[in-house]
Amino acid sequence: MKNEKALVVFSGGQDSTTCLFWALENFKEVETVTFDYNQRHDLEIEVAQEIAKELGVNNRVLDMSLISQLSANALTRDDIEIEEKDGELPSTFVEGRNHLFLSFAAVLGKQIGAKHIITGVSETDFSGYPDCRDGFIKSLNVTLNLSMDDQFVIHTPLMWRDKKEVWQLSDELGALDFVQNRTLTCYNGVMAEGCGECPACQLRREGLDAYLTEKGVS
Ligand SMILES: [Zn+2]
Repeated sequence: MKNEKALVVFSGGQDSTTCLFWALENFKEVETVTFDYNQRHDLEIEVAQEIAKELGVNNRVLDMSLISQLSANALTRDDIEIEEKDGELPSTFVEGRNHLFLSFAAVLGKQIGAKHIITGVSETDFSGYPDCRDGFIKSLNVTLNLSMDDQFVIHTPLMWRDKKEVWQLSDELGALDFVQNRTLTCYNGVMAEGCGECPACQLRREGLDAYLTEKGVS
């Protein structure tokens, strides 16, 4: 894969930043695409742009604000609380979001000559999201190839990793410090370690603690 070009779906969070480092390790040329869908925090877009700049990769921001017209949820609307109830999808869920993002990424990939599309989706931590599952990704890969008569490969380096193993991967890629300090995962828009209270921060913290314990650092 070294001689080919890859496009990373990039939000500036822990997962997609780890994927960006993975892509830089595995492909000759890497670009990133960030989707602006009226996230709660414009900071997310800024963080993505800063990281891309620092790592020397091109970043495009695509306007996907129409997503907030399609569904009411806590990531795009300030008047909805972030909560997670047992057995239900969290209120941050945007129906079909990954499906749409990957489809737009592939169209862009065709334009810029990138056959490899990389996304940080995972079945392990977010089993409630149907369009994060491996079966869906494989199905979409076939559909994209048919829709554009091309041979895309969607890569999901995090698909079977839990948060601890995502930290482990970033460490193996020499990016543990970078991912720890420069990314934004928090739903409340707090960089790095975040607010510590929201579900995203708790998941990130628990994973990091588990990894560092395993590694014997803390
Ligand atoms: Zn938080």
